Amino acid sequence: MYRGQPSSFRRSGFLGTFFLQTRSWPRTRCERRREGSDTRPSLARHTIRLGAHCYPSYRLSSMTSKQTPPAIRKASRPATRKWTVLAFAAPLVYAFCSSERVLGLLPQPVQSLVQDVTSSLDFSSLGVEIPRCPAQPDARNVGPDWMPAEDPAYKARAIDRLSGAIQIPTETFDDYGTPFTDARFDKFAAFHVYLETAFPRVFRVLRVEKPQKYGLLITYAGTRGRAALGAAALKPVVLMAHQDVVPVDPDSIGDWEQPPFSGKVDAAGWLWGRGAIDCKNTLIGILAAFEQLLEEGFVPERDIVLSSSFDEEIGGTRGAIYIARTLEERYGRDGVALIVDEGFGGIVDVFGRRFAMFAVAEKGAVSLRLEVNSPGGHSSVPPKHTSIGILAKMISALEDHADRPALRLGSPKVGELQCYAEHGEMGALFKRSIQTPILWPSVAKKLAKLDKLSEASLHTTQAVDLIHGGVKLNALPESASASINYRIEYTSSVSATIEHASAIVEPIAKRFGLVFDKLGSHSHVTQSVARLSIVDHSAYEPAPITKTEGPTWDLIAGTAKHIWPGAIAGPTGMMANTDTKHSWNLTSNIYRFVPATIHQVKGFHTINEAVHVDAHLSSIRFFYKLIRNTEGWPMW
Ligand SMILES: [Zn+2]
Repeated sequence: MYRGQPSSFRRSGFLGTFFLQTRSWPRTRCERRREGSDTRPSLARHTIRLGAHCYPSYRLSSMTSKQTPPAIRKASRPATRKWTVLAFAAPLVYAFCSSERVLGLLPQPVQSLVQDVTSSLDFSSLGVEIPRCPAQPDARNVGPDWMPAEDPAYKARAIDRLSGAIQIPTETFDDYGTPFTDARFDKFAAFHVYLETAFPRVFRVLRVEKPQKYGLLITYAGTRGRAALGAAALKPVVLMAHQDVVPVDPDSIGDWEQPPFSGKVDAAGWLWGRGAIDCKNTLIGILAAFEQLLEEGFVPERDIVLSSSFDEEIGGTRGAIYIARTLEERYGRDGVALIVDEGFGGIVDVFGRRFAMFAVAEKGAVSLRLEVNSPGGHSSVPPKHTSIGILAKMISALEDHADRPALRLGSPKVGELQCYAEHGEMGALFKRSIQTPILWPSVAKKLAKLDKLSEASLHTTQAVDLIHGGVKLNALPESASASINYRIEYTSSVSATIEHASAIVEPIAKRFGLVFDKLGSHSHVTQSVARLSIVDHSAYEPAPITKTEGPTWDLIAGTAKHIWPGAIAGPTGMMANTDTKHSWNLTSNIYRFVPATIHQVKGFHTINEAVHVDAHLSSIRFFYKLIRNTEGWPMW
């Protein structure tokens, strides 16, 4: 039986058959003709066919080249060679032909033919499961449909409230102590007074707690919530938004189009100021939704909780972590139905289509310290390489072998691209490349060239940020150290990052006769040692990846599809971290999302931060509708 029989071709697809056939390549046509009768398989491998006759190749090879006619010489080459060449050439030709640039040069009929061939590829036979864009839930619209943008009086009030919030500078700095010991946190007391004035019903009617003095935990109690049913309550929905903002660099104030704490609204509808988008738009949006729902007399079914820290921009260890603990004590591990926080997700108009992208993952992080200790001495009698020189070689090697941008199975970036490919308008060949894993390296290359943000989303980034070494010009440095910050790719881990760095650094240490102390493995060695250690409190695993299916996805994606009709909901990833990194115990359903079109927000963490008033109104409407949509939501 011919191993690559037609039926298996159909079943396995082109590449599957490709591999199946390689197993049968050594069998010549003659051998197949005599299937069953040949008792000398080793000789049969070299049997060739000329016209109607078969010749054992050992006879042919015993002839001199003059005795062998050219036709026989040609035919006597083992058939395997032809197939071997094909085996190597086919993928190259395929990759070459699939390149958009090459195909663009070909006539349309040839392009179509190549597309037809590539679309027939079936990777399931290779065990490669290509992720798809998530199933699209129906738009969800429970209860009244409130349109704040259509009420001019409300619109003016909403703008005023956000502008007022921006005018209170709630900057936080890394050297702050705790809210109980550092008076610099007291600016949040003034901010709370402002919020109480702007949202009187919220602060009068709802349960307001202030964990760690300036945290805000505001519970909109449900009829089937914790207070009503105790342990039998429905799991709450937690909406997160922090109160603090990143500092404005005093040297950059002149570069702002409007003063950073002016909260000014310009004629084009932009509302300017630090915190406009990160993250007072969200905080004020949630409070505005609460205020409106209270005004309408709405009582939710389950508890809806606003969780607001005052230290997100400085790590969350003074406030956010305690708020998360309070929620865990109250609702239990995995006791929350859904968390929505700020994020890089939002409404994007790309590839001729509107997408609602929810960040379902966050990169991890770790900072490693690399220290080289070698004998000191007088500079007049130096070794060939001092501690600083050896450290420099290590840093150089780390940078030369950094993780490369790639599309990895399991990364939310893959899901995001599948959504663009399935629903967007793009060149058929780029679309096919996104849907064909063996072409992902070229897709990743293309994406990495777009901009630094796109590149950073595709790999573990590495930045050598600190270096110390030496004390005096005439003394050899006994010690030199560098600290390197890593932002870990979604599908990787802290340990994989450490292993990668160790594998690069250890051979260099050995080459220079140093003991390699990996995370304290040789901590007793004090001389001639290279140490790799983790900077305290710097290690965070990448966040667990939130699913894009099931009731939680249906609720959040369905709400977005109602607010932005026609939008395709999909996953994306966050390069930075949010307060949700303290909340993994609460739920596996964490989405990071700015409820606004991304072209209506700008200046995250930099000059000219601004949000368009339409974006702020869409944020208010989104939170209002999300809360309304929890009515009758089939989720315990
Ligand atoms: Zn933020």
